[in-house]
Amino acid sequence: MNLIKTIDQLEKLTLREIIQKVREIKNELPQNERKIITFSKNFTIPLSNYCINNCSYCYFNHRMKAQNEIIVLFDLKKIKKLMTKAHQLDCKEALIISGEHPDQFQIVKKGLKLRGFEGFFDYLLYICKLLLSKKLLPHTNVGYLSYDKLEQIKDYNASMGLMLESSQPRLFKKGEVHNESPGKKPDKRIEFIKNAGKLKIPFTTGLLLGIGENMIDRIKDLFLIKELNDEYEHIQEIIIQNFVSKPNIRYNPKTPIGIKDIIKTTGIAKIIVENSIKIQIPPNLIPGYEKQFLKVGIDDFGGISPFTRDEINPYKPWPKIEHLKKICKAEGFDLKERLPIYDKFIRKKNFISSQINNVIEFYCNNIS
Ligand code: SF4
Repeated sequence: MNLIKTIDQLEKLTLREIIQKVREIKNELPQNERKIITFSKNFTIPLSNYCINNCSYCYFNHRMKAQNEIIVLFDLKKIKKLMTKAHQLDCKEALIISGEHPDQFQIVKKGLKLRGFEGFFDYLLYICKLLLSKKLLPHTNVGYLSYDKLEQIKDYNASMGLMLESSQPRLFKKGEVHNESPGKKPDKRIEFIKNAGKLKIPFTTGLLLGIGENMIDRIKDLFLIKELNDEYEHIQEIIIQNFVSKPNIRYNPKTPIGIKDIIKTTGIAKIIVENSIKIQIPPNLIPGYEKQFLKVGIDDFGGISPFTRDEINPYKPWPKIEHLKKICKAEGFDLKERLPIYDKFIRKKNFISSQINNVIEFYCNNIS
């Protein structure tokens, strides 16, 4: 197939052309995979709101929370309760999130010391091991971790994640979204994604749309993710996530990103990576437009929780699985549950530890 792949040409594609190309790409999949859309049944553990960064669109970090809503360190007792509920509701994935380097704050350090932990990473590692011991599969996304730490935690995670968001340097200028967020420097994020590749960690990354970048920036970042995956073959999915406005945040764009641009970016992502990486859309952020996203080639609706909220967008409730199933069916697709690691990576050499493999084997026969 002669795909149009230069940045300018991709930017100029019409929606009709995108849909046509995406159809051709999907048709290259084996017949039994073409019409499958997946999701993972998960629950979220927000380990800490404390964050060294201060992204102006953020509604999660401690600066944005009322005193009684701040999570210094998510309590172990509460985690155990969530685990019990997760089993009752058949969730397999534990999404662990946090602000970046929370233990750079004294209050978090003190909390860790009280619990007998040297640093935040030790607490995180302990929680991952605890989850695994109860047959729940961790997917950690807590911001930047060094190569050594990634190496230590790899065996206790089914997959890990870090959004590239946008590598556009303009976003670090005064008044822009990443001006107070040193942790969002593209070099650091890219280094992290590369290190995950070197360590063979099944990985999730993606773009955050509508934070001051433009279509050309997005296309360049999609090519960047593709290059990283071409080198290490470890990226299992790209999330195309749109910024959604929230009360009291500093970021208030004059012209928020429109649904057409989100749909177009999603289709272009598919054209760029073809079937080498799955394309994911968070369904709670695009309610009413699921059909259009199916048309531009999405593969996955990501983690959906039956009992915990989307901590990043708490005003956007998760849809019911049955609702998504109906929409998929009407468009000729089957919605299927997956684990936080895609099948392709379960079969790949050195991508899972024996600890993770034991839990996967336990579940493999139980997913319908
Ligand atoms: S790094 Fe994440 S948690 Fe921290 S301020 Fe930015 S968006 Fe919020």
